[in-house]
Amino acid sequence: MTATSAPLGGPQLVQERKLVTAIPGPQSQEWLRRKSESVAAGVGITLPVFGVAAGGGVIVDVDGNSLIDLGSGIAVTGVGNSAPRVVEAVQAQAAQFTHTCFMVTPYDSYVEVSEALNEITPGTFPKRSALFNSGAEAVENAIKIARSYTKKSAVVAFDHAYHGRTNLTMGLTAKNMPYKSGFGPFAAEIYRAPLSYPFRDGGLSGAEAAATAISVIEKQVGAENLAAIIIEPIQGEGGFIVPAPGFLPALADWARAHDVVFIADEVQTGFARTGEMFASEHFGIEPDLIVTAKGIAGGLPLSAVTGRQEIMDAPHVSGLGGTYGGNPLACAAALAAIQTYREDNLVHRAREIGAIIVDRFTQIQVADARIGDIRGLGAMIAIEIVKPGTTEPDAALTGAIARYAHERGVVVLTCGTYGNVIRFLPPLAIGDDLLREGLDVVADALAHN
Ligand SMILES: *Cc1c(COP(=O)(O)O)cnc(C)c1O
Repeated sequence: MTATSAPLGGPQLVQERKLVTAIPGPQSQEWLRRKSESVAAGVGITLPVFGVAAGGGVIVDVDGNSLIDLGSGIAVTGVGNSAPRVVEAVQAQAAQFTHTCFMVTPYDSYVEVSEALNEITPGTFPKRSALFNSGAEAVENAIKIARSYTKKSAVVAFDHAYHGRTNLTMGLTAKNMPYKSGFGPFAAEIYRAPLSYPFRDGGLSGAEAAATAISVIEKQVGAENLAAIIIEPIQGEGGFIVPAPGFLPALADWARAHDVVFIADEVQTGFARTGEMFASEHFGIEPDLIVTAKGIAGGLPLSAVTGRQEIMDAPHVSGLGGTYGGNPLACAAALAAIQTYREDNLVHRAREIGAIIVDRFTQIQVADARIGDIRGLGAMIAIEIVKPGTTEPDAALTGAIARYAHERGVVVLTCGTYGNVIRFLPPLAIGDDLLREGLDVVADALAHN
């Protein structure tokens, strides 16, 4: 498909928004037609242009349009698309070997990624890691490990949670449409507790919200049956919900006191995204287990569970694994991506990006009461769209804003239980000017809808 004239990706790609056709253009429309005749209908698309190159803060499509990327392929390409160190590492590894299966004949990069994760995740206690392919697969393994360690079976997840699309993780996920509807029955022994959601819970303090959640857990499950609590430190798909201060520490303390494994799902929040290497650091918590994926490897499929050695080592030998888990190309990419996050100080860059986004919408909000809430940390920022003066969600307006931006060459994503949240997850490799231009388009979208 890629014409030989397609540009190479990476940061050398011209950093501009340039539309040469309508969105989608004629070639994308032709690919959409072929997609509808070859790909299962359940695989949906947010913005129907077919990409041929990406890098820095842009995605170039098959018609030659250059779009501003404010989504990073859902928080994956934090280091940028085709980031130079990642490209070099993957090319070199591909020429060496592409697979042996770590469980058959191992290789060094899997060990090095584990060492790096043990070092950069919160907590100075002895740790171990295990590598998998997707966020959902890592979440499943975190639950297996917690059950094996505690010899208990119940798991508590939270309102608005998103943990994936496999059977166990669908059960953990809160939202019915589009993730669960018609796909049951779901796994047993999953319970749901209320979250701290400052914009919608009447301003409960973190301690109050935690007390409510703990009461539900004690009344409906019982610590003696509970293997793990799993929570996203900032909820991603659920709407970039930042819990009130004290909520997460109170839950973590309760879990520790009751032999319950506290699992932080940092699949979306991890790797510099929130202006710390891991969001748990903002809240002063040291999760027993931390699940990572998305930003870990510059776009290659890799995920991990990292945590306390005694918990991670509980499953019997060969109880964990998988054919592709910790694939050598993905591990090479992860080592290069982690080096990039550290050496390019992308934690700092995430804070700068976040400040630009928050500043922009704070100014707009003064005269536009449809922006009910502006929240997030670092380069993980969202605005919640409501009917003015209320907390009533306005999903229709949210969709219209996203469509307006898409048609003008800006990739923005929506999220939220009520479908009324616009989220910003730009690559940390985006430049200020391009970011500002992308925000201008979203501001125009608000003004014109
Ligand atoms: C995306 C996501 C997952 C699932 O990851 P996949 O790689 O899509 O399986 C799990 N948890 C959170 C918080 C996520 O954002």
